[in-house]
Amino acid sequence: ARALPQSNVDAAINAAYHQYLPLTEGKNADYIPALAEVPSTYFGIALVGADGQIHSAGDVEQPFSIQSISKVFNMALVMKESGQQRIIDSVGVDATGQVFNSIEAVEQYRGKEMNPLVNPGAIATVGNIQGTDPDQIWAKIIGIHSDFAGRQLEVNQPVYQSEAATNQRNRAIGSLMSAYDRFAMDPAVATELYTRGCSINVTARDLAVMGATLAFGGRNPVTGKQVIDSSLVPGILAVMATAGLYDDSGKWLFKTGLPAKSGVGGGLMAVAPGKFGIGTFAPPLDEAGNSVRGQRAIIDIVNALHANPYAQF
Ligand code: GLU
Repeated sequence: ARALPQSNVDAAINAAYHQYLPLTEGKNADYIPALAEVPSTYFGIALVGADGQIHSAGDVEQPFSIQSISKVFNMALVMKESGQQRIIDSVGVDATGQVFNSIEAVEQYRGKEMNPLVNPGAIATVGNIQGTDPDQIWAKIIGIHSDFAGRQLEVNQPVYQSEAATNQRNRAIGSLMSAYDRFAMDPAVATELYTRGCSINVTARDLAVMGATLAFGGRNPVTGKQVIDSSLVPGILAVMATAGLYDDSGKWLFKTGLPAKSGVGGGLMAVAPGKFGIGTFAPPLDEAGNSVRGQRAIIDIVNALHANPYAQF
């Protein structure tokens, strides 16, 4: 990997931070009640390159729930344990063309042809983690998230309680995917573990390190740990490029060329393969459910650092 000129990186981050700090567009997610209570003003940007050094601006140490971004790491866990083919066969790797918690998408192909980044596929992904003891499976989930972040992560209990009390739709989706034989785990357990995973607290800094671990072939550039085999990374990034930003995944790829994943907690993680990982936190979301300031900041930074892989000429 070629080293990024450090001063350009800091200048790009600071410019984006100051440009979008005053932007108040968008609205916190409120279908999970606890997310509506997070102050909308938080804004943080962090970037990690090959040397593991953190470049940042704003609220990069503020914890928030990872939400959908956890889907990426659950996919990585299943691939690590059971191989890529398991995800292709049991979950799928295609865009559904439907909203992230669509039941119609499940019905259309009787639970097939989904992907790990929409809820039916994400719950089925958790259902494909090996083991029968929920505590043991949870240890693997929190373990891989922590390895990607390079520190021990924990669950945000209020967010977990809030989502567990209001996730009837996800429970239905889990049951339906189980009815279509997409996984063998008890669907109530799979949905509960999925929900707990969504409630893991991270910071923008963590997301940058997690993204950088993907950018550098599964090796965490801060801890030096090889978290997953490098052969798994291109497939993970391909699914992120296809379906990482809900219904706006195409628009995002058009503007940045980068695989990324957003969460309704306001987090956004993008990966510039061989160059850097970037993480942002800003709770207000647009209509598609993606962080408004996070997207704007990353688009500017990617342009400033010439990091779009489709523009390497
Ligand atoms: N836990 C959330 C859900 O399943 C995650 C949604 C998201 O971030 O897209 O509804």
